[in-house]
Amino acid sequence: MEEKKIPYKIYLDEKEIPTKWYNVRADMKNKPAPLLNPATLEPMKAEELYPVFCEELVAQELNDTDAYFDIPEEIQNFYKMYRPSPLIRAYFLEKALDTPAKIYYKFEGNNTSGSHKLNSAIAQAYYAKKQGLKGVTTETGAGQWGTALSMACSYFGLDCKVYMVKVSYEQKPFRREVMRTYGASVTPSPSTSTAVGRKILEEHPGTTGSLGCAISEAVEAATTTEGYRYVLGSVLNQVLLHQSVIGLEAKAAMDKFGIKPDVIIGCAGGGSNLGGLISPFMGEKLRGEADYRIIAVEPASCPSLTRGKFAYDFCDTGMVCPLAKMYTLGSGFIPSANHAGGLRYHGMSSTLSQLYDDGLMEATSVEQTSVFAAAEQFARVEGILPAPESSHAIRVAIDEALKCKETGEEKTILFGLTGTGYFDMVAYQKYNDGEMSDYVPTDEDLEKGFAGLPKVDK
Ligand SMILES: *Cc1c(COP(=O)(O)O)cnc(C)c1O
Repeated sequence: MEEKKIPYKIYLDEKEIPTKWYNVRADMKNKPAPLLNPATLEPMKAEELYPVFCEELVAQELNDTDAYFDIPEEIQNFYKMYRPSPLIRAYFLEKALDTPAKIYYKFEGNNTSGSHKLNSAIAQAYYAKKQGLKGVTTETGAGQWGTALSMACSYFGLDCKVYMVKVSYEQKPFRREVMRTYGASVTPSPSTSTAVGRKILEEHPGTTGSLGCAISEAVEAATTTEGYRYVLGSVLNQVLLHQSVIGLEAKAAMDKFGIKPDVIIGCAGGGSNLGGLISPFMGEKLRGEADYRIIAVEPASCPSLTRGKFAYDFCDTGMVCPLAKMYTLGSGFIPSANHAGGLRYHGMSSTLSQLYDDGLMEATSVEQTSVFAAAEQFARVEGILPAPESSHAIRVAIDEALKCKETGEEKTILFGLTGTGYFDMVAYQKYNDGEMSDYVPTDEDLEKGFAGLPKVDK
């Protein structure tokens, strides 16, 4: 049969946007370990999570058995503003690399927030509104999640309080201003507005903050303010569920042309885009219907899968959140200033951690100068200016394509291009000026983080 000519962009029709999210946990034999109550070390019950999260989201978080969840119509309608996102055949990159590999990428940067995070932000804002809440609190590191959430909250008329890691607050004034334009209030973290923020400031005066600190502050603000709940843009099962829209669309687009990826690659911070992209493919793999090679790419400066421990840990620095079993560097690990802010979290989604531990996916780490080299190579031939986070996946996709060039294999590679990098031009500037360096923590550095792991016998 003659191969159908694959267009540069494969767009699904609006009618083909998924109407259900897929929950990969339903097909996992080894389920991700449950969240534990930090005081009793017993699995968190739904009621115990209600003070922190909206009820529907708690139900999604704890459901390991239902494979599909209906996407409410209001969310489907919002998705129509910027979805389906294109699946692009990287013809120009293939040509530049002179590789027989066929490269595809799913581009999630076509919305004002500039990343995939809007897919879950709109869902979380919807459930908060439906529960009759006044508003939500959250943290943001590089700013993409805060931006996405402020867009989602303004759509549903919810108040949005964002704790932004101080170093980003100062270095990324434009992201901050986008959030304020959508009506959010933005506080640099650690701040004096919460007890946990004051404590962290006392212990580490002059600290420029971390995601873990900002999470603690946002959780405190939510649980001490009437009518507010906390929302998180990555790591959690519910976020992977919402992000499955990426993988479902990618798979539907590929199926139209009879394309089957051999290798699927995504960057991994907390694991939400990768989890979402791979979900339907992993489902087939778990059910024994197909096989795929799946690669998580993380920064060498924050290597939770490749060098972390699979253990119960706190999700935040203030140790107020439930414990999650995950690959972690320890909640006290503060990664060096790295230009892929969205990949600096100390842990990894428990779902992905379990899949990785079960040998169902691989992980690799890359250094930031090589990531920016890939980003520039990609931008120059494919046109899109990629986010530094996304460029981790580009690096490994290019490396895999170059291996195919050596072996002559015509592999099909799919990677997630999670967002655009317009707000990361300081990082690009450093790279262009030759001032970017690579930092890889030593084993000793990592030991400090591991030493702070809670002692849990599970
Ligand atoms: C936040 C972010 C990531 C990393 O988060 P995951 O939850 O691991 O997907 C990757 N790319 C972009 C553009 C982001 O904004």
